Amino acid sequence: MCLHADKKFERFEDVTPELLKKEGVKLLLCDLDNTLRLHSEKEPADELAEWIFDCRQAGVQIIIISNNGRKKMMQKFCEPIKVPCVWWAKKPLSTKLTAAMDKYGFGIHETVMLGDKWSTDVLAAKFAKIRAWKVDHRRDVV
Ligand SMILES: [Mg+2]
Repeated sequence: MCLHADKKFERFEDVTPELLKKEGVKLLLCDLDNTLRLHSEKEPADELAEWIFDCRQAGVQIIIISNNGRKKMMQKFCEPIKVPCVWWAKKPLSTKLTAAMDKYGFGIHETVMLGDKWSTDVLAAKFAKIRAWKVDHRRDVV
């Protein structure tokens, strides 16, 4: 089993709806912290809301799968962008990734996990036998 990320990007916006279409991606499982937002961001940035809208228009379902255990914070963040979220996912365990695929009826060939961390996101994808796409870890500018 190859444990490397299958594709690498600088930021989530580089994963364009066109690319998702071309790659046959119907379900995009996304990490939250330092992937879709900086840890300090309390609400979704405009770029994130727009990106999610565009992906949806292209027929891609997005689900956030985070190891963050702060359920209330996660729900509050995800509510305005109308994205289902799974907290305390315990990646690199692949249980929650597989559960999301089963729940929404997508197979391994049409699903991708997008995240910033090899030891959680990439490995979880590999265990779930889906593609792992990695973005650069986003840091708060101090
Ligand atoms: Mg992360």
